[in-house]
Amino acid sequence: MTVVVLVEHDGGAVDELSLQALALARELGEPLEALLVGPGGADAAGELGAHGVARAHVADDERLAAYAPGAWARCVTDLAASGAPSAIVAAGSNRGNEVLAHVAARLGLPFAANCTRIQSGDPLELTRVRWGGSLLEEARLHGSPALISSAPHMVPAATVNGADAPPVETLTPAIDDTDLAVRVTEHVETVTSGISLAEAKVVVSGGRGVGSAEGFAIIEELAAQLNAAVGCSRVVTSAGWRPHTDQVGQTGTKVSPDLYIACGISGATQHIAGCKGAKKILAINSDAEAPILMSADYAVIGDLTEIVPAITEELRKVRSA
Ligand SMILES: Cc1cc2nc3c(=O)[nH]c(=O)nc-3n(C[C@H](O)[C@H](O)[C@H](O)COP(=O)(O)OP(=O)(O)OC[C@H]3O[C@@H](n4cnc5c(N)ncnc54)[C@H](O)[C@@H]3O)c2cc1C
Repeated sequence: MTVVVLVEHDGGAVDELSLQALALARELGEPLEALLVGPGGADAAGELGAHGVARAHVADDERLAAYAPGAWARCVTDLAASGAPSAIVAAGSNRGNEVLAHVAARLGLPFAANCTRIQSGDPLELTRVRWGGSLLEEARLHGSPALISSAPHMVPAATVNGADAPPVETLTPAIDDTDLAVRVTEHVETVTSGISLAEAKVVVSGGRGVGSAEGFAIIEELAAQLNAAVGCSRVVTSAGWRPHTDQVGQTGTKVSPDLYIACGISGATQHIAGCKGAKKILAINSDAEAPILMSADYAVIGDLTEIVPAITEELRKVRSA
């Protein structure tokens, strides 16, 4: 039997998370086949031999140029129907998890997301990352093919010796209009200050305690003084005060700055999942019992509308002295 890995790529450049998924899939000890969807798939396939892929399938349909989870799932289920793989593996990316969720629904099978270990057997034994990384779950997965995604950055990508570029076969999926009901129709460039949230050395984040979109002016001023990126909690994005791209947490960006300043953020598990990689956390909160204090290295208890401008003012004085 074989294992099919859905390999994501950007116009022919293979995504790092998919290389990690290939490394995890090799734990099953069966020949690997890759499925690549979208323009550039044949170019991307060339480098997969070095990651243990024995054969690549490139889905060919001009309607696959834009991401459509239903259409990608159709590619996976069509390939599975012709090859009867023992498992289908994808990266635990937004797309990988979304496509496998569609596949699971169509095949009526369970799906184990965000796995870090697979031990072959019947049923398969898996280790999964749960609750935003706060626990590891030992699980057994029944059903065939086994549907599995790999937890991002938990299994390093690794090459194998002496592998050539795999042969490439064309897959012509039977896509219909319902498969395209949800699809990407437009890309909008985000307007940022130029400092990426994921890579910033300092992040100043605001939560519900900031009070309003306008309230973020003092957060932005402090961030400007510190050459920091601005982040926020989900309450803030849900209220429309900041764009989703600023959200830190389990369903937002995971940050690992030298300093994370959490202003008016209570410290829910889902938020901490996104900032626990920070070297130091400074919490500014009016509630001395707020859960964030359990994770914080430093805390200032008080009203952020007084404390944040005061810090900014001190920084200005120091810089202009
Ligand atoms: C599946 C799921 C995924 C989620 N993913 C995320 C995620 O990715 N990121 C995320 O952030 N949340 C996420 N959440 C939501 C999370 O559970 C919390 O609801 C959210 O983080 C709370 O946001 P908050 O801390 O801003 O608001 P609150 O919990 O309301 O906290 C506000 C804090 O502000 C303080 N405060 C109020 N006024 C002031 C003031 N003037 N000065 C100083 N402090 C003040 C309060 O004491 C309080 O501690 C998720 C939830 C679920 C169920």
